[in-house]
Amino acid sequence: MPERINVTRSSLPPFEEYCAEIREIWDSHWLTNMGVKHQALEEALSRYLGCEYLALFTNGHLALETILAAFDLHGEIITTPFTFASTTHAIVRCGCRPVFCDIEPDNYTLDPDELEALITDKTAAILPVHVYGNLCDVEAIGAVAKRHGLPVIYDAAHSFGVFKDGVSSANFGDAAMFSFHATKVFHSIEGGAVCCRDAETRQRLCDLKNFGIHGPEDVPFVGGNAKMNEFAAAMGICNLRHLEAEIAKRRLAAERYDAQLSGVPGLKLNRAQRGVQANYAYYPVVFDGYKYSRDEVYDRLAAEDIIARKYFYPLTNSFACYAGKPGFDPADTPVAAYMADRVLTLPLYADLSLADVDRICKIILE
Ligand SMILES: *Cc1c(COP(=O)(O)O)cnc(C)c1O
Repeated sequence: MPERINVTRSSLPPFEEYCAEIREIWDSHWLTNMGVKHQALEEALSRYLGCEYLALFTNGHLALETILAAFDLHGEIITTPFTFASTTHAIVRCGCRPVFCDIEPDNYTLDPDELEALITDKTAAILPVHVYGNLCDVEAIGAVAKRHGLPVIYDAAHSFGVFKDGVSSANFGDAAMFSFHATKVFHSIEGGAVCCRDAETRQRLCDLKNFGIHGPEDVPFVGGNAKMNEFAAAMGICNLRHLEAEIAKRRLAAERYDAQLSGVPGLKLNRAQRGVQANYAYYPVVFDGYKYSRDEVYDRLAAEDIIARKYFYPLTNSFACYAGKPGFDPADTPVAAYMADRVLTLPLYADLSLADVDRICKIILE
């Protein structure tokens, strides 16, 4: 029996490379609180993403909550239910109310044509998600936001390494959150970052992630603790060196899937976006009128010890924790509900072998 294949497998640098990177931490005994590794990773990411104002975090979720706090948002935030639990929970945990906008069927991202009708005098911000690394229609969303004077905060957790006409996804909207969780294309074991547009916002984010402390005797904010530690930063530094090669390997696997699954009636593959350099973060397939349902394909793969993922299913507006709450109804977002019932993300990671891709395709097709 071949080894189990999971939907993803974390990339790791060579063991010796990580050991060399953490040597300095041992020598200095400086383990966290913005040490040399933290600073080095921040600078390297700033350069790579082309974003001057960047702050590191302990994870993507707390990075997102900290943005909402830094922008001092209250009231309604327009967002998508076709996302990971984190996006919706961050809004609710920060005392705001999510208002769910439907998605575009092609990119799975927030539909700008549905956006304006949801804006009320209580709307405080727009929080779209670059789903699977597909970029939102940032121009259209930006135009609506500008008309109404609303900030746009992107959940860019899936889109590290995605560039549109040479501009990284860090640079769209008023702020962008990245997740560096172990399962993401680029990771620091756990970690995250916020990219924003000015030094003042960045400083507020830095204060908020460190208990609201600005200086030794100055605590202007009620902050939490969301600092990235030195060992996580060291992992990020190593992984960033290998990022391009990792994405290239993911691309080969994705193209191997494309070659076998494209043109098959009832299968809808992810569509490449014009002018966009992709990161091949996920390989979603929508089973719509195929000879097997999404759930049947999931079960057939699982029987062969291949674990795909129903991602995103369920929609966040149908989570048990929100049952009965006004505004949480998947019927309000019919396109998202339709996709959630039919989409499956297939295994995709840098060292997934092409032979395994072939085996997965064979199980799906036969
Ligand atoms: C991973 C992820 C997050 C949360 O990031 P963590 O680093 O795991 O806290 C938020 N939103 C989306 C869309 C994600 O995929």
